[in-house]
Amino acid sequence: MAIDPICGMKVKEETKYKSEFQGKPFYFCSSGCKTEFDKNPLKHSR
Ligand SMILES: [Zn+2]
Repeated sequence: MAIDPICGMKVKEETKYKSEFQGKPFYFCSSGCKTEFDKNPLKHSR
């Protein structure tokens, strides 16, 4: 399981909502959270 960095929900790695940032994969519960992350990955990736 991975943690959605936006809302803190647990998500499965096989989700289609996935982004990579600085070589690390991030997983999201919804397209909304992915969009939010993609807008400002630096802020959300730590
Ligand atoms: Zn989420």
